[in-house]
Amino acid sequence: MKPHAHPQPTRETTLQFERALQLLGHSGRPLPAAPPGSEAWLQGLIDALVDLSSRDALTGLANRRAFELVLAREVDRVARSGETALLLALDIDHFKRVNDSRGHAAGDQVIKAVAGVLQDAVRPMDLVARTGGEEFAIILPNCGIAFGATVAERVRRRVAQMNVAPAPLQPLSVSVSIGGAFAPQWVRSTPSLWMERADQQLYLAKAQGRNLVRLEPTPVSVVSVEEKRLLFETSQFQDHE
Ligand code: GH3
Ligand code: MG
Ligand code: MG
Repeated sequence: MKPHAHPQPTRETTLQFERALQLLGHSGRPLPAAPPGSEAWLQGLIDALVDLSSRDALTGLANRRAFELVLAREVDRVARSGETALLLALDIDHFKRVNDSRGHAAGDQVIKAVAGVLQDAVRPMDLVARTGGEEFAIILPNCGIAFGATVAERVRRRVAQMNVAPAPLQPLSVSVSIGGAFAPQWVRSTPSLWMERADQQLYLAKAQGRNLVRLEPTPVSVVSVEEKRLLFETSQFQDHE
C-alpha cells in the first residue's frame, strides 16, 4: 500500500492551527508551558485539544462522545473481566419549569450545580457525563449490586438536598429521576442495549412520580466472581475423585 502522504502546510491549515489555539484560549485552558513550536509544546497542545473535545463546555463533565467511547470500552471490559458494572441514566425533573420561571441563564446554573453534585457523589473511577440538555449518565465500573443501589440513592438524595440559588434569585429545589441497569458479564450486551435498559428504568422513575431511583431487577442467582472460581475449582476436584 502507498504510504499516506502528509499535506504540506498551507495558508488554510495554518489558519486552522490558529483557530485551535483560540479555542483553547476561550476554554480557559492554559497553553502548554514548553517553548512554542517544540515537540513538548505540540504534545501539550494535542493533549489539551483532546481534552477539550471530550468535555462538555458548560459543566466540564465528559460529553456525549466521550461517554459513548467509555461505555463501549466498559462493555468489552465487563465481558473479559467477569465484573459487573452499573450504568445510570439521569434526567432533571420538570426542568422546563426552571427555565420558564427563572430564565435560561438560571437553568444553566442549575445544570452546572447538578453536575458538581453528581461528580462529588461518586468514586474517582466512575465516569459522569452530560449526555444531553438536562440529561446525565454515570458509568460505574466494578460495581456490585448492593453498592449500585446505595450509590444511586445517594446521588438522588444529594441532588434533592442541594441548595441552589441561581443568583440573584430565590433558592430553588431540584430533583433528578434515575434509571439504572447492570452489565453482568454473562449476559451479552452492546452499548446501545445497555443504555436502552437504563433509559427504560428512567422512564419508570418518571412515570412513578420522579425524584426516584429505579434499577433493573437483577437475577436472584447472581454469582460473584469468587463464587464462580470456587464452583469451578470444586468441580475440577470432583473430576479427579
Ligand atoms: P421531566 O420531569 O419529564 O424530565 O420534565 P422536563 O421539564 O425536564 O422535560 P423535558 O425533558 O421535556 O425538558 C427539558 C428542557 O430542558 C427543555 C429544554 O428547553 C431545556 N434545556 C435543554 N438543554 C438546556 C440547556 O443547556 N440550558 C437550559 N437552561 N435549558 C436546557
Ligand atoms: Mg430530558
Ligand atoms: Mg427533564
